[in-house]
Amino acid sequence: MSNFYEERVLSVHHWTDTLFSFTTTRDTTFRFKNGQFTMIGLKVGEKPLLRAYSVASTNYDENLEFFSIKVPDGPLTSRLQNLQVGDPIIIGKKATGTLVLDNLKDGKRLFLLGTGTGLAPFLSLIRDPETYERYEKVVLVHGCRQVSELAYGERIQKELPNDEFLGEMIREQLIYYPTVTREPFRNRGRITDLITSGQLFSDTGLGPFDPAGDRFMLCGSPQMLVDLKQIFEERGLEEGNHGEAGDYVIEKAFAER
Ligand SMILES: Cc1cc2nc3c(=O)[nH]c(=O)nc-3n(C[C@H](O)[C@H](O)[C@H](O)COP(=O)(O)OP(=O)(O)OC[C@H]3O[C@@H](n4cnc5c(N)ncnc54)[C@H](O)[C@@H]3O)c2cc1C
Repeated sequence: MSNFYEERVLSVHHWTDTLFSFTTTRDTTFRFKNGQFTMIGLKVGEKPLLRAYSVASTNYDENLEFFSIKVPDGPLTSRLQNLQVGDPIIIGKKATGTLVLDNLKDGKRLFLLGTGTGLAPFLSLIRDPETYERYEKVVLVHGCRQVSELAYGERIQKELPNDEFLGEMIREQLIYYPTVTREPFRNRGRITDLITSGQLFSDTGLGPFDPAGDRFMLCGSPQMLVDLKQIFEERGLEEGNHGEAGDYVIEKAFAER
């Protein structure tokens, strides 16, 4: 039996010349937890060319959604960026990953810290009712270089608060905090600096960092993860994984070549 589904592209949206999103059909037997990733790709010749991708849609959505980088000479994304509606796409049957609610201890506030396409797993988690049942406040931080790279900002701020089922929870519990590093914007700076300076906590009006009640999920560049891990360890937080729930969990948004 194959380890892959062959699905079809349903829509493609280009945010910038380096970022795009697409939706695909979903096999009814494909199961995943919100926040997980799977292998996806294209057939090149007779061989599948696959890469890890976070599922940006939720496990209760009928279709699948992915948020992708376009690496100019990248083996997969130099091809993937040309996807058209109706094209075939390969989706791995086995989803996995550490950014799942089960790997975190209960707490008061959940901070979802993503840079670039590291936003993708959190797009799924902010539409999971369990996220709001377990945490009083959910803070989604999306860090990018340019304002134009803050993909999904409109959907998060305008559509989600009016969602028929989740709208009330989202209006009361979700705080969206986009931040950019390379041009003027209402929030500026790297996520690491926003945490060490305390600015993230004061800007969101939530009160100071609280190791007893704050939980974190991180998805970004390998370097961002190293830096944040150090910050959290210095403050006494423990990393969670499949064996044991912790105060924070991490996943690479991509691997260095
Ligand atoms: C657990 C996990 C989840 C991932 N989820 C996603 C996702 O949801 N969306 C997504 O676009 N990519 C994601 N990636 C990265 C993805 O697997 C590929 O690396 C990416 O699609 C580029 O593929 P490529 O073959 O074109 O280039 P590759 O040869 O895979 O990458 C070339 C180089 O491009 C850079 N790069 C690759 N991906 C990114 C990225 N996303 N952001 C910034 N720089 C990057 C890195 O320096 C990398 O070494 C994930 C990776 C991991 C490990």
